[in-house]
Amino acid sequence: MTTRKKVHTYVRVKPTDEFAYEMITFGEDNKSIDIHIKKDSRRGIINNQQTDWSFKLDGVLHDASQDCVYDTVAKEVVAQALDGYNGTIMCYGQTGAGKTYTMTGTTENYKHRGILPRALQQVFRMIEERPTHSITVRVSYLEICNEALFDLLSTLPYVGNSDTPMSIVESPQGIFVKGLSVHMTGREEDAFSLLFEGETNRIIASHTMNKNSSRSHCIFTIYIEAHSRSLSDEKYITSKINLVDLAGSERVGKTGSEGQILKEATYINKSLSFLEQAIIALGDRRREHVPFRQCKLTHALKDSLGGNCNMVIVANIYGDATQLDETLSSLRFASRMKLITTEPSINEKYDAERMVKNLEKELILLKQELAIHDSLANRAMVTYDPMDEIQIAEINSQVRRYLDGSLDEIDIINLRQIQEVFNQFRVILSQQEEEVEASLRRKYTLINKNDFATITAVNKAGLVDVEGNTVGETDGQGFGLGVAPFSAKPGKKGKFKKTFRDITGASTKKEGLLSPASAKDVDSLSTSRSQLLSSSKEADVKDAPSHDREASSSEPVVSDSPKEDSHTTRPGTPPPKPSAFEEFKNERGSEINRIFKQNKTILNDRRKKASETAQRINSIKKEIDSTKEALDVQKTFREEQGEYENKGLMIIDEEEFLLILKLKELKKQYRGEYQDLRDLKAEIQYCQHLVDQCRQRLLTEFDIWYKESFLIHEDVQAPLKAKGSIRLGLLPLSKLTSLAEDDEDKFGQIQTSVLPDCPDSVPFYNARMKLDQKQNYSKTMASFQNKKPGSIPSVLKEKSPSDYNLR
Ligand code: ADP
Ligand code: MG
Repeated sequence: MTTRKKVHTYVRVKPTDEFAYEMITFGEDNKSIDIHIKKDSRRGIINNQQTDWSFKLDGVLHDASQDCVYDTVAKEVVAQALDGYNGTIMCYGQTGAGKTYTMTGTTENYKHRGILPRALQQVFRMIEERPTHSITVRVSYLEICNEALFDLLSTLPYVGNSDTPMSIVESPQGIFVKGLSVHMTGREEDAFSLLFEGETNRIIASHTMNKNSSRSHCIFTIYIEAHSRSLSDEKYITSKINLVDLAGSERVGKTGSEGQILKEATYINKSLSFLEQAIIALGDRRREHVPFRQCKLTHALKDSLGGNCNMVIVANIYGDATQLDETLSSLRFASRMKLITTEPSINEKYDAERMVKNLEKELILLKQELAIHDSLANRAMVTYDPMDEIQIAEINSQVRRYLDGSLDEIDIINLRQIQEVFNQFRVILSQQEEEVEASLRRKYTLINKNDFATITAVNKAGLVDVEGNTVGETDGQGFGLGVAPFSAKPGKKGKFKKTFRDITGASTKKEGLLSPASAKDVDSLSTSRSQLLSSSKEADVKDAPSHDREASSSEPVVSDSPKEDSHTTRPGTPPPKPSAFEEFKNERGSEINRIFKQNKTILNDRRKKASETAQRINSIKKEIDSTKEALDVQKTFREEQGEYENKGLMIIDEEEFLLILKLKELKKQYRGEYQDLRDLKAEIQYCQHLVDQCRQRLLTEFDIWYKESFLIHEDVQAPLKAKGSIRLGLLPLSKLTSLAEDDEDKFGQIQTSVLPDCPDSVPFYNARMKLDQKQNYSKTMASFQNKKPGSIPSVLKEKSPSDYNLR
């Protein structure tokens, strides 16, 4: 799109009666100007050797009308501005050479109007020719005098902040003069009024402020913004036309100025030479830095010089012989400028507001399209708006139910919902990770694996055995985590599975000992490269409440560790544990409490039966003893009477015979009752175990419930409450209940894949209870098999031990 262009340079010769025909000649194509100076050392006008110069330019305007000058110099630049190209036209030359005449012309004579009013006229004419676009025109008029900025339109009413001291500001949108009034002009006439106002102010200022107008630069800027009338077109173009009437280029030495005048002259030359430097730098592709900031003129024109804009320079010269050296100087400037190339480009922008509106429109259309698709697919009530908190909470609850198995599938509704489902998976995962870590840190001291000194010290203290897998077991029920030997580390690498599998794998270990592999798991969670060691007894105490605590008693108080107190609690004091326990038994703990009570009833029943049997045995024994006594009396009496034998058979009387029969029967009874008692004792033992397990479970569950209900942070609480199916550190029980008796493998699988990572005590106890029940059940079954299967309590026969995990 961008093509390199040269800076266009023209020479305009001011008409004079004394034109130096001998010295100034024009090429036939009107594109060159030759200067010839007669060597006249006597007059000393020119001292250098050279006497002939030829300057190639884009056009020589000699005796050219204002009309012709405009068409040649400005017409194209202005036309291109309407297409989005910035344009700058500058008049350069010594004072009186006709710069102002060229740029502004005479304000009294329409025919002699200059480039400025003609440019405004062309702009408005072109706007009329483009009804497809809404084009706005604004103008500003800036004067730079002795490096000070003046707003030549400041006398007009302006909505902007006119009190702001003027300064040149660079912004992402481009360069602008802060404090300079920019006036909207809807009509050609208004634009002219502004121009005349500016011209008047320029003249007045030159008198009142002692400003020599020949020492100042004047920049009249026309700002154009063109929006397509078609609303779908979000692009719009902006452009600026800078019409610059530069200060006189005459050199200080020539003017013979002194004092203030001299100072001013120096400034002028400086800023003109800076202008030249900047334009040259812009034209040099290798130059990275363009010295725009050296003076106000170049700084203010930063985005309008060379570079990406159309640039035209008109060198105004005298045709008089007396001004030849200044003429030469101006021509040199012009020819230097001619060598410079620029790359004009369109200033295309995007109308953000229009873009938003168009996107909104499209969004509505697409939603309508979706609605049609939904109704065709019989999908009612599907919304595609961003989700609110309630909807997100519902998804969170769904995910939890899905994780615990109570929900088989999460229905796919739309993309937003799918994304939210994944998001909630992440939320739940991170909550659990945090919980796990927090709970580990509450219970254990973490030691860096690489910290051999500490490990050695710990080994010496006996907390970790030689193999590194003994733990601080205190009362046979507590447990801790030890150093993981490499052999004990799980081979699985899958991040998630490893976390779940490894931690739950611990539960298959023996009572009171968590697998050393767990230490590794903690690693994989977040306590990277650390080891865990049981550091306090409190964990043991809490996780394994003492046996004499009766679940049904009113004091199931679990010791509150100080660390637990430091745990973030919810506002308000948690209720005392005894009363909370009663509540728990009616609430979440109702089922396990029911089973517990049922087991206890059976136990008591068996105990009662056992004592009744024992009593019966005792009375049978007494009767046996007395019968034996009576028999002995009979025997003694018979012996005293002399024995009576019949063919080798001893004859006894009827009374003695009955006693013998009775004794036999009593002994039989005795044996039967005795067997019953033994069976009952086995049953009692088994039931006692069940009762203990249930009590354990009840207390553990209560602990969790109590924590969840009163001690866990609200953030964690909310999602837990959502459906409550996933519980901190609990194996989803619905999974357990589905286990068949011989499903040990499946159980293991579920543990590894479903169990949330939870080194807290609960899964450990879950697993232990499960294992114990299984073992005890098999044992009891075996012991009953060869005896009296009928004596197994019906409740035991009907249910598998895993059923006792029911809450
Ligand atoms: P500058 O702005 O360069 O100092 P001016 O534009 O003020 O010079 O010109 C000085 C005088 O010469 C003015 O009175 C102006 O009308 C007159 N003049 C300059 N150029 C022309 C021209 N091309 N035709 C007629 N008059 C001119
Ligand atoms: Mg002038």
